[in-house]
Amino acid sequence: MSRFFSSKYKSLIPYTPGEQPKNMDYIKLNTNESPFAPSPRSQKLAKAAAKNLQLYSDPECRDLVRKAAEHFGVSTEEILFTNGSDEILNFAFMAFCQDGAAFPDITYGFYSVFAELNGVPYTEIPLKEDFTIDIEDYKGLNKTIFLANPNAPTGIALSVSEIEEIIKSNPDNVVVIDEAYVDFGAESVLPLIRKYDNLLITQTFSKSRSLAGGRLGFGIGSKELIQDLNTIKYSTNPYNVNRMTAAAGIGALKDKNYTKKNCHIVEQNRRYTEIELEKLGFTMTSSSANFLFAKHNTIDGKEIYQRLKEKGVLIRHFDKERLKDYNRITIGSKKQMKVFIEKLNEVLKELL
Ligand SMILES: *Cc1c(COP(=O)(O)O)cnc(C)c1O
Repeated sequence: MSRFFSSKYKSLIPYTPGEQPKNMDYIKLNTNESPFAPSPRSQKLAKAAAKNLQLYSDPECRDLVRKAAEHFGVSTEEILFTNGSDEILNFAFMAFCQDGAAFPDITYGFYSVFAELNGVPYTEIPLKEDFTIDIEDYKGLNKTIFLANPNAPTGIALSVSEIEEIIKSNPDNVVVIDEAYVDFGAESVLPLIRKYDNLLITQTFSKSRSLAGGRLGFGIGSKELIQDLNTIKYSTNPYNVNRMTAAAGIGALKDKNYTKKNCHIVEQNRRYTEIELEKLGFTMTSSSANFLFAKHNTIDGKEIYQRLKEKGVLIRHFDKERLKDYNRITIGSKKQMKVFIEKLNEVLKELL
């Protein structure tokens, strides 16, 4: 730390991203990326956009916004694109958290980092013993609520009606529903958007649309909420979405059947992996996401993680007390999952 670092940031502990090893020999099942390439039109349009990189990108992302508004059935004033959904989540912490924030004790690790970064006081509400959310804990909180649905790293989803109860009982605070994984089997709260002016939905192109490296996320909410988020955006980085990424986003929306097919394959591979893991003595939460959260009935989570890594398979281990018995395993291609199960079999043989 330099002696110039602002005192307000001195105790900030940044988010720890999953490992991104340089040698790509690893089977990477640790950061919930898609095993599939970006859609054909994503690639083609991004390449074409590269020819104009001497020009700034459109700060309003008009073509992308128009296409997305049509895709999601909202107006162009109800949607805002950002540099990954992490950026819009940060904007929401900056814009809407005057009364403090609340989120589960086990959820996306970035929420507490954004809260700290922005000096927002926050409450972490414990999940129940089985890792589910008790919606009663979130009723009438008078704080800005952040819920990942499905939640991470558990994969467990709430229903639209459960989320609606939370939104309804906090009319004077924004409720942010982070739908990063919604395309893998959960239900989106999109139909509620016109009913509640305190609902902000965030989604990403990183997971189901194979554009993690492009950095594209967005929020959908009332015109007024989006206006506020735009005030933050134009006060930080108006050109937050680059030309190639905006073009790739349009391509992904045009190739919506490609996305749909890939999500379906991931769901099938999740089922396959679940069955194989059960046979090997693992228990899992019921996941509606592109990952499984699994614990072996006798062997330590970290041990499994380390031994798999030695064999060239990366999964995600968290050291947090309530999570340390578990590992989060991204669902990749069928071939990747078969190798994962094979290597896991070897690891268990060594240890049992
Ligand atoms: C991956 C993820 C995000 C953000 O992803 P971006 O790549 O920044 O769009 C947001 N929330 C959750 C729960 C995630 O897992």
